[in-house]
Amino acid sequence: KAPTVPFNQERSQAAFDRACEFMPGGVNSPARAFGAVGGKPLFIERADGPFLFDIDGNQFVDFIGSWGPMIMGHAHPKVVAAIQEAVAKGTSYGAPTERESQLAELITEAVPSIEKLRLVNSGTEATMSAIRLARGATGRDKVIKFSGNYHGHVDSLLVSAGSAAASLGVPDSPGVTKGTSSDTIVLEYNDVAALQSCFAEYGDQLACIILEPVVGNMGCVPPQPGFLQAARELCTKSGAVLIFDEVMTGFRVAWGGAQSLYGITPDLTTLGKIVGGGLPMGVYGGRKDLMDHVMPAGKVYQAGTLSGNPLATAAGVAMMQLLKEESPYAYLEQQAERLAQGLSAAATAAGLPHQVQRVGSMMTLFFSEQPVLSWTQANECHRERYAEYFWGMMRAGIYLPCSQFEALFFSSMHTPELMDHTIDAAHTVLGA
Ligand code: PMP
Repeated sequence: KAPTVPFNQERSQAAFDRACEFMPGGVNSPARAFGAVGGKPLFIERADGPFLFDIDGNQFVDFIGSWGPMIMGHAHPKVVAAIQEAVAKGTSYGAPTERESQLAELITEAVPSIEKLRLVNSGTEATMSAIRLARGATGRDKVIKFSGNYHGHVDSLLVSAGSAAASLGVPDSPGVTKGTSSDTIVLEYNDVAALQSCFAEYGDQLACIILEPVVGNMGCVPPQPGFLQAARELCTKSGAVLIFDEVMTGFRVAWGGAQSLYGITPDLTTLGKIVGGGLPMGVYGGRKDLMDHVMPAGKVYQAGTLSGNPLATAAGVAMMQLLKEESPYAYLEQQAERLAQGLSAAATAAGLPHQVQRVGSMMTLFFSEQPVLSWTQANECHRERYAEYFWGMMRAGIYLPCSQFEALFFSSMHTPELMDHTIDAAHTVLGA
């Protein structure tokens, strides 16, 4: 049943003040601090299915799902059971296990471009390692990335990055040296002409393109027809490596990720979030001949004490098996369409210019007059309006992303009734 909340924030606010004494900004990852919408974050006690419960006893319909991983809902019994079974056998060995190959097989089966892979501990590690591999395998230095695309806090990629960096207005971080970022070329997303002229100028110096095949980190921005194809063709011609960062889109927009949805096969793919079933995990993988450059098969170094961790692989295998068996994607698509239409109708009824952009169960309501196809356009959105919408929805028991520049996610546990409740709330909040 859909909750309505009195929204007492007393304990959360005290917890936040205390956390600020110990951690920078009171959090362990910046997006959690609510910097883009003002106010103090809610502290969570537990989560179940589509719901979050905070320490003041408020209940929310969760539309961030841990920023992506919780596609089957929180605390899914099969994932919980798999972790419980694994934990009793020890939490880390620093030696190989059979389950690593079991997970690897499930992933290679699902994702078209992945023939071989490495398990790491986060999306950041995955993109960092993929870039190193692309450079090591090609012997070239330069990397193309797109503004508003976020690939974790890798030094060389923390240039015009989206997500919390963008929400807080610091697209370029102090501490990233000119030397580190000087080989990073930043282009506008969906701009094929810019990509072509970049290849014309730097062709044989380009190690790789890294991109989000559907951007989630400037809000949801789908690739325009021809954009991914152009990236593929230019890379193939010049010998550069095409990397799809599917940390967000992998197992989210489709079982095989965005690459299966759009029919474009990259050379390397990075994964995270869903693939670890809610435990820390990242993956990079791709063509066998490329992956065999990684040590100890090849010379490109990459390692990790906790990589392939038994708890993370237990959760990951349980999640992959669930997704395979239950294939939630048709249901998610149906509910996404229902929600998109409902949110759009609510904004229209309130007379607010807007765009609802989505691919599957990744979605953003932009307060913008025009479609948002690039970082420049994302920046023209009405961010104060988004902040008001965010807090209004929070008071109605709906937990949305705390920035115009983050996509919302939901799960197979979000019932049609919860979607309708969310749409009703949007009518009230936007109307006000
Ligand atoms: N790539 C993309 C597309 C992401 O969305 C994220 C995180 N939101 C990352 C990389 C980094 O992953 P992590 O936070 O696990 O390091």
